[in-house]
Amino acid sequence: MARKRAAGKSKGSTTKANGTAKGTKYVYLFGAKTDGNGTMKPLLGGKGANLAEMCRIGLPVPPGFTMTTEVCTYYYQHKRTYPPALRPQMETGLAAIERKTGKKFGDLKNPLLVSVRSGARDSMPGMMDTILNLGLNDQTVEALARKTSNARFAWDCYRRFIQMYGDVVLGVQKGAGEDHEPFETVIEGLKHERYHQDIEDTKLTVDDLKELVARFKRLVKERAGRDFPASPWDQLMGAVGAVFGSWMNDRAIVYRRKYNIPTEWGTAVNVQAMVYGNTGEKSGSGVAFTRNPANGAKEFYGEFLINAQGEDVVAGVRTPEPVSQLKNHLPKAYQELERIRQTLEKHFKDVQDFEFTIEDGIVYMLQTRNGKRTAMAALKFSIDMHKEKLIDWKTAVMRNPADQFEQLLAPVFDTAEVVKAKVIATGLPAGPGAASGQIYLNADRAVGAAEKGQPVLLVRLETSPEDLRGMIAAEGILTARGGVSSHAALVARQMGKVCVCGASALDVDYQARTVSVDGQAFKEGDWMSIDGTSGKVFAGRVKTAPSEIVAGLINDDETAKKTEKFKNFQQLMKWCDQATRMGVRTNADTPEQALNAIAFGASGIGLTRTEHMFFEGDRIDAMREMILAETLEARKAALAKLLPYQRDDFAGIFRALNGFPATIRFLDPPLHEFLPQTDEQQKDLSKKLGLPVNVIHSRVAQLHEFNPMLGFRGCRLGIGYPEISAMQARAVFEAAAIVQKEGIKVRPEIMIPLVGFKKELDLQLEVVHQAAREVQQEQRVKLTYSVGTMIEIPRGALMADEIAQSAEFFSFGTNDLTQTALGMSRDDSGSFLPQYAELEIIKKNPFATIDVTGVGQLVDIGVKRGRATRKDLKIGICGEHGGDPDSIRFFEQVGLDYVSASPFRVPVARLAAAQAALVK
Ligand code: PEP
Ligand code: MG
Repeated sequence: MARKRAAGKSKGSTTKANGTAKGTKYVYLFGAKTDGNGTMKPLLGGKGANLAEMCRIGLPVPPGFTMTTEVCTYYYQHKRTYPPALRPQMETGLAAIERKTGKKFGDLKNPLLVSVRSGARDSMPGMMDTILNLGLNDQTVEALARKTSNARFAWDCYRRFIQMYGDVVLGVQKGAGEDHEPFETVIEGLKHERYHQDIEDTKLTVDDLKELVARFKRLVKERAGRDFPASPWDQLMGAVGAVFGSWMNDRAIVYRRKYNIPTEWGTAVNVQAMVYGNTGEKSGSGVAFTRNPANGAKEFYGEFLINAQGEDVVAGVRTPEPVSQLKNHLPKAYQELERIRQTLEKHFKDVQDFEFTIEDGIVYMLQTRNGKRTAMAALKFSIDMHKEKLIDWKTAVMRNPADQFEQLLAPVFDTAEVVKAKVIATGLPAGPGAASGQIYLNADRAVGAAEKGQPVLLVRLETSPEDLRGMIAAEGILTARGGVSSHAALVARQMGKVCVCGASALDVDYQARTVSVDGQAFKEGDWMSIDGTSGKVFAGRVKTAPSEIVAGLINDDETAKKTEKFKNFQQLMKWCDQATRMGVRTNADTPEQALNAIAFGASGIGLTRTEHMFFEGDRIDAMREMILAETLEARKAALAKLLPYQRDDFAGIFRALNGFPATIRFLDPPLHEFLPQTDEQQKDLSKKLGLPVNVIHSRVAQLHEFNPMLGFRGCRLGIGYPEISAMQARAVFEAAAIVQKEGIKVRPEIMIPLVGFKKELDLQLEVVHQAAREVQQEQRVKLTYSVGTMIEIPRGALMADEIAQSAEFFSFGTNDLTQTALGMSRDDSGSFLPQYAELEIIKKNPFATIDVTGVGQLVDIGVKRGRATRKDLKIGICGEHGGDPDSIRFFEQVGLDYVSASPFRVPVARLAAAQAALVK
């Protein structure tokens, strides 16, 4: 497989198709001697590349080596085997670690222990496997105890090692129906047997730990059917296989699918000398962010545990202390961490999320990466770092993930309601925002309830990566244990889920499916509310209120406008406008929607679906009368009733737009959508219209279509019944005349749907121009308007050169274009698309993100052919894809003039359009 090498100083040759290339460098050293650097993420993974980079800038990193992602590719292409050249290179790597540390792997005097960790190109927190303390067996544990004069520490490492290795490599995991890990059950059992209570792990004695090791080994034998491996090299190869294997575990697959990480990327594996956070009170482990990733504040943020290894911090078993407390415990180490924090930000010029271990007072760095952040934090980081001159304004724009940006508009609790609500517990604020939902204690049941349309809060004792599916389905996540850096909390933040962690007052009973606090029990299905910004947990349902940005922009709330969040948002949007080439319009059918969109920065309407206006109040009756009419006269009479409604609607929209253009699309859906389908509705209508029920019944039957989406709809309606288009055109022009006379500029753009043939458009053009002439004469005004078409069926795109002879503008209707190009019904694809995603037939839902390689070709052809006829043809897109960041990138590339998105997605579209222009 020919693959691109990472930039940087890689010297290895590329892997040949048979994978037996000689001289391929599979192992890159760091610490002892450093082969890689921070630019080599595709080859070394994010963790490996940044470990190398930290070595290069002089930060304290224990020595180790990285096995490249090419090994992973080889592994899966060759039935889970390794390239023959790997083992000798690993031996060389291990020898380098031994030289640097003065320890030896498997040695009976001074044994070297290593960690084995995954490291994909993009970090996937908690999704793949890690093994610590590898190299221990019944002999080396004694050697470690002697060497460190710390038997407790040595045996603690050994029990941890068996537990992790047993879980990850030998598959000793909780089975169906078990809510606890089997090793944890053994620990709890021993604690209760010996102490009659749940004591902290650090209180376990050497003797306890020895007993645990013995019991763990028995558990392994029982469940895995084999002895725990004693040879360090066997252990190492087993661990490496498990880590490569974890690339294909269920949760990693779910995560990749959600974040569009290609399976082909593979993971690297890092083997690194252990440093120990569990040697006593002068040691510890922690994770920290150089700034607060929840709200963006410039403060050292994170947590640590004294006398613990890294996994204790992230696993959520013990609730850690805030990193600021380290000042009191180990002031020197804290100072050193502060220095490292500054160095990291200066060097990487972005907020870092790092892991550290303190061994007997000395700080070691185990990892750094760009910190995952909420949209709120991303916004503040980008504005602050620009002020601090760490980044320029274009970088600041790029630092805001467009697909998370909508979080900024997410609701907060209604201030009046929240003071009345009962606070039942307080936890750590791990993902900001307000969420109210019905509680579920297990991921599957949470998914089930969400599928039924319930707002769900996932409540767990501790967060665990297995909960990913449940987290995706939930509005918010609440845990009784664990800290803000637990893996699941990180993932929650990235997903924009509201999250409260470590609300220890809650007693979560999986068996009874209840959450109790202060004698009050909440059952599954009961309501709770959480505030992920303050950490408060409320009983019952609490009403939510709009975010400051929505309050400031839409409600013109002066207090909201003074907030930092609002001001930062406005600054970012200003930069976006400087960068953007494409315009951003909105899909709006009412004046209110149009006003909202303009407040969010839209520069006009890209699509008004006129049919939506017919569903309101009495209009539907006139509409039905029109459809049921048997003669032209009767139809015209009904249309005359509809005309004033349409005229008022359009006038309202023109006033709201105040000079911005409005693309008004003529009637589009199949007519039967307007008709009463049930007997009762038909009877009702018969009374209202004074028509016999059987007439209504037979007309409904007559209008029935087998494939309505491909039937009598779109411009076919206006061609079959020109009087409908005539009425709509008249309503547009009369409204335009009225509003223009009020002194407001009006820019109507009439859009004909579903055109595949130039003649279809020409027939409708005649009707429109005729109405325009009439109204201008009657009203004695001169109106400026244009008439264009939607390009939403393949023939329209292919014949765009011909159609552009008549069309003054195009707007891609990518909903229908996707439906017709893929031959997949927009309304019925839900039944098979999930499976298509699972089988990776499609990478993303093509109705949400444009299918660039397929449908994209039609868009490209439509643009090129259209502009070949009419050089300055204005082209936009008004399908749902107009609010999707990935699709917007594509629309920028093909040179569209604007995208049109629903009002609340306008800010997302503005950001995505700016970013697309900046990366172009
Ligand atoms: C489209 O097809 O993309 C479109 C915008 O029109 P509608 O969704 O109303 O069919
Ligand atoms: Mg359409």
